Amino acid sequence: MSWAAHDLEPYLMRAKLGGAVSLPFLLIGSYSPDILTKWAVYGLDFSGNNKLVDDPVQLHRGFPGVGFTHSLFFGIVVGLLILWLSGSRMWAFSFILGNWAHVLSDTLDSVGVMLLWPLTDWHLHFDAWQYVGQAGRRVDAIAYYTSLGGVWDILWAVWLLWNWRILTTDYFRNEIYPKDHFWHWLGRRASETVMLTVYRASAFFGIASIIGWFVWALLVNEYQAALDWSLGGPQWTPRVGPP
Ligand SMILES: [Zn+2]
Repeated sequence: MSWAAHDLEPYLMRAKLGGAVSLPFLLIGSYSPDILTKWAVYGLDFSGNNKLVDDPVQLHRGFPGVGFTHSLFFGIVVGLLILWLSGSRMWAFSFILGNWAHVLSDTLDSVGVMLLWPLTDWHLHFDAWQYVGQAGRRVDAIAYYTSLGGVWDILWAVWLLWNWRILTTDYFRNEIYPKDHFWHWLGRRASETVMLTVYRASAFFGIASIIGWFVWALLVNEYQAALDWSLGGPQWTPRVGPP
């Protein structure tokens, strides 16, 4: 799985595709595969000792399970639903792109995704780093941020900081607000300060969580606190493949 990459990718997609896409719907799409299910994968507490399901990998990425949320088909179905409810092609298209970016990012771990579900439950996985969700949030965070997963997050953060201008008030006023009815809807209910906070929230959260998790994984926590940027690392975790 990816962590902060899912918070940051939508900003870069918006920067590259301009007014053709809606940032809020890119973000909703990016969050959609995991938002309702990750708590069940990890269990209720931080330690990972409070398991809710016997096979978190099967639940998260398999079928039966909610692995269908990580398929190209799921993005299209929800996208069509958004089109039907809102009549906005831009919102539907943005949701699909955000969802697909998440799905493709998750192919980089050792479990991967059922990309072509329901045609097949075959998993596409590139094994750049280990899937460690079954070990609970704490161990997963350490494994992810000390492996190439952490590098993947840093790449997105650096790219976003390189494009820092897209987070300015001027950019929001001139480029973001006029081109997406979402902001007109929100603007009738809230001040510009609230809109700017909503606009920047995921970027701020993503960057802050990368810094926080790195500090915690390497400096605070003493469990396996060393970087392992080998392909398929970190090597100390159990090897987990597709369910
Ligand atoms: Zn995911």
